[in-house]
Amino acid sequence: MNLHDRFEKVQATMAAAAAKAKRAASDVTLIAVTKTASTDQIKQLVEWGHRDFGESRVQQLQQRTAQVDEWLARQQQRRAERQSEKNLPGPGELRWHMIGHLQRNKVRPVLPMCRGGGIIHSIDSLRLAEEIQDEAARLAGAPAPTNPVGPPAGSTRILLEVNVAEEGSKFGVAVGAALHLAEQIDTMDDLQLVGLMCMAPFSANPEDARPVFARLRELFEEIRFRKIGGEKFRHLSMGMSGDYAVAIEEGATLVRVGTAIFG
Ligand SMILES: *Cc1c(COP(=O)(O)O)cnc(C)c1O
Repeated sequence: MNLHDRFEKVQATMAAAAAKAKRAASDVTLIAVTKTASTDQIKQLVEWGHRDFGESRVQQLQQRTAQVDEWLARQQQRRAERQSEKNLPGPGELRWHMIGHLQRNKVRPVLPMCRGGGIIHSIDSLRLAEEIQDEAARLAGAPAPTNPVGPPAGSTRILLEVNVAEEGSKFGVAVGAALHLAEQIDTMDDLQLVGLMCMAPFSANPEDARPVFARLRELFEEIRFRKIGGEKFRHLSMGMSGDYAVAIEEGATLVRVGTAIFG
């Protein structure tokens, strides 16, 4: 299969999983994880109308956004010269998601890259959340931590990464500590907690991931019931190439798929 076939197959599988769970296909966003992708493959997806991309490492995220933005800027200029209409976004208009583990000393470069509508998926400690809050406040031109006349809250969107499967993942907050951490993050002015994320342990059988995803969904419902994060708390980021169909059946709104698209 070529890139186009794989991309279509992932979208068809997503639609079938949504239908099986009696959910609207538009409820679920595909994040194309570009870890193994070539720049040309990313450009192809953008030309086909795709807008959400993910990287798991800060340096790669920086390189990708720079390369793709440079290309988008060139395309924009060409369009202006020829006055042609091609439905491509401008530079900075793709949604880049930071999906991998984030160290506190790498927060600064990540924030601007995720502000075009992307989300940081991997918040798993109070200290990391505080670091992002400080940086978000700084970017907004407001002194940390609060500024009554500052810009509206919620400009940096984040997900709490939960270590549901306990063994198998080094990262993520423990299930028992997630609710309290969500409450603490909810008090931070420049962070918008929009949901939860998890990774299922690797397995050849996607059904093995189902109880992990179901548990994250339960935790999600519990946090939502307590109105933590408010109306914007509505995302479940779960499911990768091996298990995204199961994740959608269990309520995923964001799936992070790399190799099934890019090979
Ligand atoms: C690499 C990665 C993915 C995508 O993995 P595939 O198996 O290639 O789909 C999803 N989420 C995270 C956090 C990753 O690091």
